[in-house]
Amino acid sequence: MSRTRLVIGNWKMNGSRDDNAALLRELVFEAKKYSAIEMAVCPPAVYLDGVGQQIGGSPIRLGAQDLCEQAAAGAFTGEIHGNMLKEFGCRYVLVGHSERRSLYGETDERVAQKFVTAQVCGLVPVLCLGETLADREDGSTEAVLARQLDAVVASAGIAALRDAVIAYEPVWAIGTGRTASPEQAQAAHAFLRRRLAESDAKIAGSVPLLYGGSVNAENAASLFEQPDVDGGLIGGASLKASAFLAICAAAQARNGQ
Ligand code: PEP
Repeated sequence: MSRTRLVIGNWKMNGSRDDNAALLRELVFEAKKYSAIEMAVCPPAVYLDGVGQQIGGSPIRLGAQDLCEQAAAGAFTGEIHGNMLKEFGCRYVLVGHSERRSLYGETDERVAQKFVTAQVCGLVPVLCLGETLADREDGSTEAVLARQLDAVVASAGIAALRDAVIAYEPVWAIGTGRTASPEQAQAAHAFLRRRLAESDAKIAGSVPLLYGGSVNAENAASLFEQPDVDGGLIGGASLKASAFLAICAAAQARNGQ
């Protein structure tokens, strides 16, 4: 089954107007070479408008790093409604990034609610999930992935996964320079697909599964060669045009296989 190949840059809390403009100038200039995949960038929310304008007319898509789980606007100081992200041209929104889970206390239930709200607002949620090092070492990787995934399926319903992306991001690999081996990534992705297939085999086969965690220009090709790895969610390496484009090139090369 052919699935969308996708490379998403998560800028995290980085950037400035000048830095963003310089990075995007290069990405926009090169983007048409990567027409066989989809490229997206997720800047901090305050930059969405400016970034959206700079990538306008290019094939690069816009995404946000988070949204408020509340479906109705109102008294939620500091939060950003999904409709606002949509208004500013976002296609994607990350939900449940490990930094949101570990630093800001987001529970599986809250992540599931964000997933649901994102879709209500017309956004494509990128559900981030992954195990900690302790989980991996005590053999509970699959149990953790199942728990995180099942919480979303229980809230949103399996059909909602038809218009979503999943990013497997082992916590121990994010920002550490310690990448999962291609075999570890494949095993986790295959598990996620099997888990979804218990509810709906067609959806399990069609949902794009991205790998994230210290992907760089050197290791991207071997990760993307895995049959169940459909692209990447890229943190640090998305801040440098040459590295991000090399990762896009690796995804595009995989597309022809
Ligand atoms: C991320 O922020 O989702 C991520 C995967 O970061 P890094 O690529 O820097 O590990």
